Formats: sequence, structure tokens, C-alpha cells
Amino acid sequence: MKAVAINGYGTIGKRVADAVAAQDDMKVVGVSKTKPDFEAEMAIAKGYDLYMAIPEREKLFEDAGVQVSGTVDEMFDKADIVVDCTPEGMGAKNKENIYEKRDLKAIFEGGEKHDAIGLSFNSFCNYEDVIGAEYARVVSCNTTGLSRTLKPIADLCGIKKVRAVMVRRGADPAQVKKGPINAIIPNPPTVPSHHGPDLQTVMYDVDITTIAILVPTTLMHQHNLMVELESTPDLDDIIETLEKTSRVILVSADKGLGSTAEVMEYAKDLGRSRNDLFEIAVWKESLNIVEDELYYMQAIHQEADVVPENVDAIRAMLEIETDAQKSIEKTNKSMDIL
Ligand code: NAP
Repeated sequence: MKAVAINGYGTIGKRVADAVAAQDDMKVVGVSKTKPDFEAEMAIAKGYDLYMAIPEREKLFEDAGVQVSGTVDEMFDKADIVVDCTPEGMGAKNKENIYEKRDLKAIFEGGEKHDAIGLSFNSFCNYEDVIGAEYARVVSCNTTGLSRTLKPIADLCGIKKVRAVMVRRGADPAQVKKGPINAIIPNPPTVPSHHGPDLQTVMYDVDITTIAILVPTTLMHQHNLMVELESTPDLDDIIETLEKTSRVILVSADKGLGSTAEVMEYAKDLGRSRNDLFEIAVWKESLNIVEDELYYMQAIHQEADVVPENVDAIRAMLEIETDAQKSIEKTNKSMDIL
């Protein structure tokens, strides 16, 4: 049983911890927090050993009555690998200052720059390239969304060029200090956005240009894709391919799922922990081929979609499983993913 430490128990970290705990070939040896808030209490209530990210704050935890098992250094001593889910940019610093010095394997999240880590990961695109690696970064929620649907389309009929308009949620639901509240922000205001180059860190040869805007919503990201194809299959072949693709679901406005709000209501009805939708939701009605170009729209639950990829990355890097498909199936089964 391989030992996994989760450094940073926030939006992504707490979900990765639960996903790791659901596996039978790895276990959580600890999670870390900087402060003794409700998430720290919940981590302990769930049975995770809690470690202090800032040891000088021991008294703060003591005064709050939150029992810690030690410092993050003590947590790292017990780990075969760490999943770094600290805020954007901190992971790269931790790589240099902590993990490299300890010779400890580490997985980073999409807030880190590819160049700082050197290797990016998506289960469906480049699992083999990450087998045994010391460090890898699971690409961002948006890039995971792009790769989940574009990879099977590329495999089916080849892609000449992708153009995508990314409509990004302004904040996560619990982020009360972020916005916008009443604006649409070109973000970045320059074209192209970084999402295209980020996809190329896992789908190495894809030709893609993206532009992005930020909107006042917290529920999901939404993508609008225009894909020039190498060969033109029947639309039914594309639909069938996406229907068969793991971690992708087709949803229909006709059935009441015409918006991100309704898709998240569907996720609530699935009854999963935290109402997570790990799958990318593609609107069936949006799929259309016009003059050799495929059009579609999709929605991404930003808090959840990267979580199964973190589990697969652990298996690849610790060489628990060298077959991508087997890891994907095992992760899906344990997390009830469609
Ligand atoms: P988050 O909710 O802010 O959580 C960050 C966690 O890191 C918190 O538990 C925080 O603990 C902890 N932390 C802060 N400083 C630390 C330190 N010095 N050492 C150890 N832990 C520390 O952030 P997140 O949204 O999960 O993002 C984590 C990463 O995932 C980022 O790279 C982000 O870009 C990426 N990502 C985020 C999303 C998303 O939609 N949220 C989606 C995909 C990828 P305290 O609360 O105790 O301070």
C-alpha cells in the first residue's frame, strides 16, 4: 500500500484525499493546513491525520482545540509521494525548497507553470510518459476539460486545428472575496489565452488557439469549440465516440439540462460527495458538423474534474500500474465515475 501525503487541504486537496482514500492500492498518510478552521476539523472528523504547514502556529491549533499529528516535515517522512494542492505558485517553490531536497516524488496542480515542473499529465493523453517520473503536474481544470473531449476526437478522425472560447467561472463557490460580481472580463485581454499552449503540454501535436473570458458565476466553466477535422466522419460517429468515452457525458437541453446550473443540479441528484461532477458534460444538441468543421459546447465542474487524474498520476509515478486504461478503470470504479 503506497503512502500519499496531501499538502494543502483546500478545494482540490480535500477531494484528492477522499479519492486516494477510496483506492485499495494507496492510502492517505496525512493532510496539511495552515490554520485550524472548519476544514481542519472536518479532516480530523474524516479520520485523516492533520499536519501543520506552518509549525510556528502550533499554539493556534492548540487554542482552537484542533489536534495535530505533527508538522508537514513529519508528514513527508511517512510518504512515498506528495500531492501538492497548495495555492497557485506555491507548489513550484515547494518543489525546489522541500521535495527535491528530500528526494520525494511530487504531483502538482494546474496553478503551477509547466516549465517549473517540467512534465504535465493527463490520464488519456500521456500516462506512459509519466511512469516512474519524479515530478509531474496534473493540467488545470480547463485543460483537463479540453483534453478529455479532443483526444478521442483526434483518435477518431484527426484534428487540423482547434479554436476555443473559454468562459471561465469568476470564483469557486466558497470564495467570497473574488469576482466579478457584475462584469464580463476578457481574461486575459490578450489573444491567445494560455489554455491552448497548456493543452500542448499533454496533447503535444495539437494545433489550438484559445481566448477566454471571466463571468460572474461559481458553478462551472463553459467551453465553445470549433474543430477543423482531418477527415469528416458522420456526426453519429462523433456522438457514439463521446458516448463511449470515459469521464465524458452527453447531456441534453431537451431533458432539462440546458445550463450549467441544471447540470450541477443533475450532479446533486447523482448523490456523490460534495455534488461533484468528475465528468465533462458535452451538450448533445451543440454537436454539429458544418463544412468539415465540428462544433460543440461543454461544461466543466472546476472543483472536481482533475481529481481522478491525480489518482492515475500517483499510479503512474509510483509504477503501481503501467497500463493507463487499467488505472483509469480502477479509479472510475472506486469513485463511481461514468
Ligand atoms: P485552495 O482552496 O485555496 O486550497 C489551498 C490549500 O493550501 C488550503 O488548504 C491552504 O490551507 C493550503 N495552504 C496554504 N498555504 C500553505 C502552505 N504554505 N503550505 C501548505 N499548505 C498551504 O486552493 P485550490 O483551489 O484547491 O487550488 C490548489 C491548486 O489546484 C492550485 O494550483 C490551483 O490552481 C489548482 N486547481 C484549482 C481548481 C479550482 O477550481 N479550485 C481547479 C483545478 C486546479 P489553509 O486553508 O489552512 O490556509
